[in-house]
Amino acid sequence: MYDYLVVGSGLYGAIFAHEAKAHGKSVLVVDKRSNIAGNIYTENIEGINVHKYGAHIFHTNNKKVWNYITKFAEFNRFTNSPVANYKGELYSLPFNMYTFNKMWGVVTPEEAAAKIEEQRKEITHEPQNLEEQAISLVGRDIYEKLIKGYTEKQWGRDCKDLPAFIIKRLPVRLTFDNNYFNALYQGIPIGGYTKMIANLLDGIEVRLNTDYLENKAELDALADKIVYTGPIDAYFGYELGTLEYRSVRFENELLDKPSFQGNAAVNYTDRETPWTRIIEHKWFEFGKDENGNDLPKTIISREYSSEWKPGDEPYYPVNDAKNGALYAEYKKLADAEPKVIFGGRLGEYKYYDMDQVIAAVLDRCDTELQ
Ligand SMILES: Cc1cc2nc3c(=O)[nH]c(=O)nc-3n(C[C@H](O)[C@H](O)[C@H](O)COP(=O)(O)OP(=O)(O)OC[C@H]3O[C@@H](n4cnc5c(N)ncnc54)[C@H](O)[C@@H]3O)c2cc1C
Repeated sequence: MYDYLVVGSGLYGAIFAHEAKAHGKSVLVVDKRSNIAGNIYTENIEGINVHKYGAHIFHTNNKKVWNYITKFAEFNRFTNSPVANYKGELYSLPFNMYTFNKMWGVVTPEEAAAKIEEQRKEITHEPQNLEEQAISLVGRDIYEKLIKGYTEKQWGRDCKDLPAFIIKRLPVRLTFDNNYFNALYQGIPIGGYTKMIANLLDGIEVRLNTDYLENKAELDALADKIVYTGPIDAYFGYELGTLEYRSVRFENELLDKPSFQGNAAVNYTDRETPWTRIIEHKWFEFGKDENGNDLPKTIISREYSSEWKPGDEPYYPVNDAKNGALYAEYKKLADAEPKVIFGGRLGEYKYYDMDQVIAAVLDRCDTELQ
């Protein structure tokens, strides 16, 4: 008999399992996939750590989280500085002085601010849709070249048909600073995220290719308590309905050349290019293998926004009133299950960045594990 059965070997499950073991508890981890690490799984192909479920960049301002996670991986100095490609014109992101210089030839912050101010004046009334909202915040040029096409691809709808509230703020920097996240701590675990999760799970029994819900009675009988990090609605057999997700589709390609785009992330901001961005994985680790040698090949992933339907991989929880209300109903059912802790991105139906998952599971461990 185990003290804990942990369902899911992603970040939440792996940290819970590690902490439980450290507190002298016996733990069994199961995952329905054939690999550990959940959505932060990286697979080494041709010496490149490929982020199989989407690019993951660790960033946090939380010192406790940083001190914790760096016990299981050494992080490199990667800083996310994405580039926008609008019909072959390249712009720095997030919007900053490099962007404004390229867009208008302005040189000083005053000139840039004046240009934005002049273009914002186009909207004289309360913005009625996302297009008007964006123009009222940053002006037409930035909207047309850097926001419109990308947003329309993401939502599958025209910006004129999207509500204004989707964009509340559009930060502009009047400095030469391409550091997207601007977090105190940022980087990629050297050797990949899978290795970091393997370090967390060191010495813990893990059964892969094991779907908890398909073997529930048998697995429940093995442990006193369950930590469940799968989708909360699936746990209850979708009895109240299905929670929705936003989805992404990835198309990976191995190229026999050392560089495709010279940067980890390039966003395609025009409407015509069908993908939203291209990730070139080797640049998360500066194009080097683990011995510091230049890698001769490269792997790229084109990302497409796609409609999610039940059965697809759940990616981003949908943060709207309808799904929020349905989750609240499932939460009531979850609270009535004394033996089960629901945690993580799917168990709590919450958009969590990795650092937020770590903070949440450590809090949970504080109350759960004595
Ligand atoms: C496309 C994308 C990009 C992201 N980029 C970033 C980023 O750049 N920076 C950042 O900080 N965060 C990012 N995130 C968020 C990050 O992925 C999550 O915070 C983190 O992976 C959540 O960990 P988790 O353990 O809660 O869930 P998951 O990693 O989803 O793990 C859940 C595990 O449970 C398993 N499971 C589910 N159901 C069952 C079942 N019935 N039986 C057995 N096993 C089951 C699954 O197979 C999975 O392994 C991104 C998310 C997405 C979707």
